[in-house]
Amino acid sequence: KKFVYSFNEGSKDMRALLGGKGANLAEMTKSGMPVPFGFTVTTDACKQYYADGGKIDDSIIEEIKAHQDELESVMGKKLGDPEDPLLVSVRSGAPISMPGMMDTVLNLGLNDETVVALAKQTDNERFAYDSYRRFLQMFGDVVMEVPMKQFNEIFDGKKAEVGAEFDVDLKTEDLKDIIEGYKKLYVKVLGREFPQDPQEQLMEAIKAVFRSWGNDRAILYRKLNDIPEDLGTAVNVQSMVFGNKGNDSGTGVAFTRNPATGENVLYGEFLVNAQGEDVVAGIRTPKKISEMAETFPEVYAQFKEIASKLEQHYTDMQDMEFTVENGKLFMLQTRNGKRTAEAAVNIAVDMVNEGLIDKKTAVLRIEPDFVEHLLHPRFDADEEAAATPIAHGLNASPGAACGKICFSADEAAAAAEAGEKAILVRTETSPEDLAGMVAAQGILTAHGGATSHAAVVARGMGKCCVTGCSALKISEEEKTLEVGGKVYGPDDYISVDGTTGDVYSGLLKLVPPDISGNFDTIMSWADELRTMKVRTNADTPRDAKQAIEFGAEGIGLCRTEHMFFEEERIPAIREMIIADTEEARRKALAKLLPFQKSDFKAMYKTMGDRPMTVRLLDPPLHEFLPKTPEEVKQLSESSGVSVEKIEAEAAKLKEFNPMLGHRGCRLAVSYPEIAEMQTEAIITAALEVIDEEGIEIVPEIMIPLVGSKNELANVKKTVVDTINRCFEKAGKKIDYLVGTMIEIPRAALTADEIAEEAEFFSFGTNDLTQMTFGFSRDDTAELIRSYVDKGILESDPFKTIDQNGVGKLVENAVKLGKKTRPNIHLGICGEHGGDPKSIEFCNKVGLQYVSCSPYRVPVARLAAAQAAI
Ligand code: ADP
Ligand code: MG
Ligand code: MG
Repeated sequence: KKFVYSFNEGSKDMRALLGGKGANLAEMTKSGMPVPFGFTVTTDACKQYYADGGKIDDSIIEEIKAHQDELESVMGKKLGDPEDPLLVSVRSGAPISMPGMMDTVLNLGLNDETVVALAKQTDNERFAYDSYRRFLQMFGDVVMEVPMKQFNEIFDGKKAEVGAEFDVDLKTEDLKDIIEGYKKLYVKVLGREFPQDPQEQLMEAIKAVFRSWGNDRAILYRKLNDIPEDLGTAVNVQSMVFGNKGNDSGTGVAFTRNPATGENVLYGEFLVNAQGEDVVAGIRTPKKISEMAETFPEVYAQFKEIASKLEQHYTDMQDMEFTVENGKLFMLQTRNGKRTAEAAVNIAVDMVNEGLIDKKTAVLRIEPDFVEHLLHPRFDADEEAAATPIAHGLNASPGAACGKICFSADEAAAAAEAGEKAILVRTETSPEDLAGMVAAQGILTAHGGATSHAAVVARGMGKCCVTGCSALKISEEEKTLEVGGKVYGPDDYISVDGTTGDVYSGLLKLVPPDISGNFDTIMSWADELRTMKVRTNADTPRDAKQAIEFGAEGIGLCRTEHMFFEEERIPAIREMIIADTEEARRKALAKLLPFQKSDFKAMYKTMGDRPMTVRLLDPPLHEFLPKTPEEVKQLSESSGVSVEKIEAEAAKLKEFNPMLGHRGCRLAVSYPEIAEMQTEAIITAALEVIDEEGIEIVPEIMIPLVGSKNELANVKKTVVDTINRCFEKAGKKIDYLVGTMIEIPRAALTADEIAEEAEFFSFGTNDLTQMTFGFSRDDTAELIRSYVDKGILESDPFKTIDQNGVGKLVENAVKLGKKTRPNIHLGICGEHGGDPKSIEFCNKVGLQYVSCSPYRVPVARLAAAQAAI
């Protein structure tokens, strides 16, 4: 096996082995672009390192040495040569990009001797010593684990001592003092000297990159982004070029298109006389890339050409890193750029129009989960226009958010835990803030550009973010945010507009977004490509209307119990529950009938001729009982039943395990009159709306929580008898369907028998998961999280369907159901109906539709299309 590849040996198709960065460096090298030469140590070597218990095997070391020889002969320089030293960067690069999560060391090869040579060669002593002190710092931090803070103390101490305002104000002598201080720090912290031998530096740095695959933030990032743990990282060893050699040098980061909006213009930033990390770390606020046209006109033209070539070559928007050394351009990285949901949609549609990609590719390019961000609110335009911003920063990631000011990741997490909306406010974010960024509604930083850590990560999460808001004075210790002479604290609220970069005090009103234009185009392409239908779970005309706007083609689950909770209805339902004779119960139900009927009429009118599945009453009755003494008294007055008797009845309904108790179809078996009333409401509502609107309606009545054929047959008889009575009374018949939810494992196992009675199955995968795992849906969130952390579960089975267990039940039930009734209707109405991975599964097992909450409908349309491609 080969463990090391020179840049001229690889290609873009070798990501798994060379990592994304290595594969693309090789591809650019192959295409004749200016890339500093180097070699890549493969991900296999990383896996081997872990397998060998944190050791690089001798044979791999030899391969590295051989490629190092090659690199030295290509460059005509040798590592550690006291006359003409080769300096390299050691860069991590995983098969899937994890920006800023792992470590990179620059300027490797410097020591007390080579720094002198570098100074002489470049005739720039200050530059050489500045590079050396950067290397000591980075190597100490990344490789030797000397805390960065202690380096900074020495550095800032010197600055204060000599009265330097900026880093560039430090003289060579000052830098030399700092270097001596750093070297002493090594001895103090590690008990040994900084390794002067470049060969040792190189091997230690390679190991450190391998180790960084296993650091906490990399692990968290992989968890958040579903990246497998076992890929490993490659290591790129590349000869250094210097952007900090003077005013004809510089470094930058650019995207071929705007990653926030998708606009087709070169977008990015650069810094004159700086080394790469300065841009990415967001410490100095850089200049716009377009200004490079003035500073370095020729280099700019060359860069533009390369950028466009790369985009054509990869047929996707590229995120590039480059450095200019004494007027000469070098490409250091290219990759498919991260982008906001809005940009993803605009770029995909534009690229189809430009003939660069086809519609299928365009649809595949949009992350379904992302689409939901587009549906989320923005600030009310009038309110935003009337408000005066307290500050303005860079519009790093669009959308709007408001919430409580949180000065640390922990505070943001705590606020979110307490159900508060949080805005994470930081001087600059670092990868340690990731958990807080996840918890916050939005992110605001004082430093950093549009490619700083905060910006990149926020865009990745589709979260609103404003960076580089330099007017803010933030003290994380004192928990104060000072701007425009006013001080805000942790009890204050702010609003952040990531689309404009404006920041407001207080809470601005949020309004729903506009979903037309390119979004609509992408969704219509998705609709052409998908084979499954997408329905919604909705109980009110308002939700139903929203869902139709988002493209829902019907209702997969209309829960009738939510309709009972309204103020005017709850007394009647309570009377029904405490009634101890059938007669009293019927009397109470008669009061409910007109309410239910008008609810269903409104739903049918909203849905037009789209199908709607209505589920009969499902929850245990005690959920509806009066909770407070006043409510009990009221009920006693309205029903004429004594308080004592109501309390006794309530006590009787108490269950130890209500989710496994008297609910679902079991209610209809005990009290057929409830099912009768609901059926009558559904059928008469349909008959009347058919008359009034002249549309076609085929009512679908769904019987929940069925475990056996006989149970279903019992309730179905009640339902069908009632329907026939309604038809007789109306003197008119219509088509209808009676079906069931498959949500008890036994029903899934006996689906062939159940299908003798059921005309459709709707998989209720929430309960099915609960009962298959024996995990209480309401009590095990914490437990499941710890199972996921410990690797016992791959993911939360309530979010993504457990294909091996619950999925097998579904698959089997589909087969059995079809065996009995080949034309049986099949869908899913659990939370999983809005989860892209689960949707892919539904497509695979042959469901005809998925049903999900209104805001997930576009997500499901796209996921269904991707599943079908
Ligand atoms: P990340 O994955 O965090 O982006 P990189 O390996 O890309 O880390 O390194 C970060 C920065 O270091 C790059 O953007 C680049 O500016 C600088 N850098 C890396 N290698 C070199 C090199 N050979 N010469 C000059 N600068 C380099
Ligand atoms: Mg890095
Ligand atoms: Mg990089």
